[in-house]
Amino acid sequence: MTMAGRRPLVAGNWKMNGLRGAIAMVEALRNGLSTDLLDRVDVLVCPPSTLISSCVAAVYGSRIAIGGQNLHAKPNGAFTGSISAEMLADLGAKYVIVGHSERRAYHHETDDGVHAKALGARRAGLCGIICVGETKEEREEGRTLDIVRAQLAIGVPKGATGADTVIAYEPVWAIGTGLTPTPADIAEVHASLREMLGQLIGAEAQNVRILYGGSVKPGNARELMAVENVDGALVGGASLVAEDFLGIINAYAR
Ligand code: PEP
Repeated sequence: MTMAGRRPLVAGNWKMNGLRGAIAMVEALRNGLSTDLLDRVDVLVCPPSTLISSCVAAVYGSRIAIGGQNLHAKPNGAFTGSISAEMLADLGAKYVIVGHSERRAYHHETDDGVHAKALGARRAGLCGIICVGETKEEREEGRTLDIVRAQLAIGVPKGATGADTVIAYEPVWAIGTGLTPTPADIAEVHASLREMLGQLIGAEAQNVRILYGGSVKPGNARELMAVENVDGALVGGASLVAEDFLGIINAYAR
């Protein structure tokens, strides 16, 4: 638990990676995580939708959770190629990533769209991981806090709770680049997000986990987790390698 009593969450985002053989990675994770460790940290894998069912089967009976990487806001309908929160939940998913910067950049997702998707996740009983983060230009212009606070204010649904909402601060320039903000920069953003959450949902803000994401590796995980208001990690590249992901999970367990 963090000092505020929030259980750390380490979430892996496989993005568009993984054929059926990748189930072995989830099995390796399961074998590498003791029940004692899983009592101290929540572990989540978000594979491509095609692998959700088999991943759910592979972690059956353990505390490892499986989630989606995206959803359509509506429960069903004429939306060719889309997947709803209900469909993800039906497969056994417990979480879904909402508004990842790659979705915002390549699929033109807006903050209003993120809000609608977060509502969709809640409707189906999924925990939505709402991603926020500034671009390199926005940081250089000194606009980081304004950007992430606005993304949060629009994206987070009214009445959000720690059970149905997780926030992930992911600076766009840190994703997949090997670059990370300094611990002081991360602390400043997370404190500001916590304060903004307080304005949005009151005392419940203390129960919402705020993850850091962007080039988290076994080598920097301990330093990142020590930052105040960092309640876990959203991990891209390193979540594809069992040894690396296990290293990160171990660093985040409290
Ligand atoms: C991500 O895609 O959410 C991410 C943080 O990627 P990486 O860990 O590879 O930077």
